[in-house]
Amino acid sequence: MTTGGGKGEKILVSVRVRPRNDKEKTRNDICDWECVNNTTIICNNNLPERSLFPSTYTFDKVFGFDSPTKQVYEDGAKEVALCVLEGINCLTHFFAASIFAYGQTSSGKTYTMSGITEFAMNDIFCYIQKHKEREFTLKFSAIEIYNEAVRDLLSGDNNQLRLLDDPELHQRGTVVEKLIEETLRDRTHLEELLSICETQRKIGETSLNETSSRSHQILRLTIESTGRQFSLESSRTLDASVCFVDLAGSERASQTLSAGARLKEGCHINRSLLTLGTVIRKLSKGRNGGHIPYRDSKLTRILQNSLGGNARTAIICTMSPARSHVEQSRNTLLFATCAK
Ligand code: ADP
Ligand code: MG
Repeated sequence: MTTGGGKGEKILVSVRVRPRNDKEKTRNDICDWECVNNTTIICNNNLPERSLFPSTYTFDKVFGFDSPTKQVYEDGAKEVALCVLEGINCLTHFFAASIFAYGQTSSGKTYTMSGITEFAMNDIFCYIQKHKEREFTLKFSAIEIYNEAVRDLLSGDNNQLRLLDDPELHQRGTVVEKLIEETLRDRTHLEELLSICETQRKIGETSLNETSSRSHQILRLTIESTGRQFSLESSRTLDASVCFVDLAGSERASQTLSAGARLKEGCHINRSLLTLGTVIRKLSKGRNGGHIPYRDSKLTRILQNSLGGNARTAIICTMSPARSHVEQSRNTLLFATCAK
């Protein structure tokens, strides 16, 4: 776990390369990337344009295809996900955290993020069981942003939710109107809710033709904690939250779509992903980053309090090792480099 830091804390940036899938193997799609150690990845491709791009990239962590999700969680997300508990413990520091999966469609975002979410939730439940001196309440909510429309994954309907700036809730900033926040009874309850989210996302996928590659999913766990002891400090109520964000395919941020509905959709996806990119780049520059345009997209408005300030962020960038994806993989590494 982190030992302090504060506002200057860097974003934890990792890269995960998935194994080649069957399709890539059958068409003998060459593996271009090599993870030379746990922080460095190099591109071995000898194509003529290669000299235009860096061949060596260094991040906080690099995970090759033999790294299980457990390890990606332990080294690339855990300290950020659990920092809010430490905040509760010392009544200060970080009260919000967010973990992102960024990468092109089919690079392993959902695979990685669903594993990380389970490991983190499990550690949070364990922590709570060990700290009987405080009383904890866990709340869970889940939304999907598609085409700049916000939908509640727990509600079962397709209604679009509005974002409100609640003047009474300065701490929380932007709130999603009418969002269902389930108070968790136990782990089984959480598992039930996670599977509802998965089903809801799949329903959207079939009806809207692969929505998941175009939509962002945010799962938020809110942790309220009150000390049981009768002293002013320890009886303070503290709120913390952790967001798990499975982003739309990053090819949406670079692709120019031609006409009609596709264009609108493309533009909106561009807006949320591009704004997130800008926000993260500026945050990584610290005080010199200037104005941070949180308000330019739904995604960044909703996540404003989970990014920057008193929050910590981890980004796992996922990529395919195959040559046919080399351009998208480079774009992903470029994004990851800017976030460092
Ligand atoms: P994305 O969410 O980025 O579109 P997915 O997470 O759905 O991609 O992954 C695409 C496919 O690849 C899935 O079938 C998934 O199980 C598989 N996959 C992704 N990452 C890994 C990995 N590290 N090891 C094994 N299989 C993986
Ligand atoms: Mg996915």
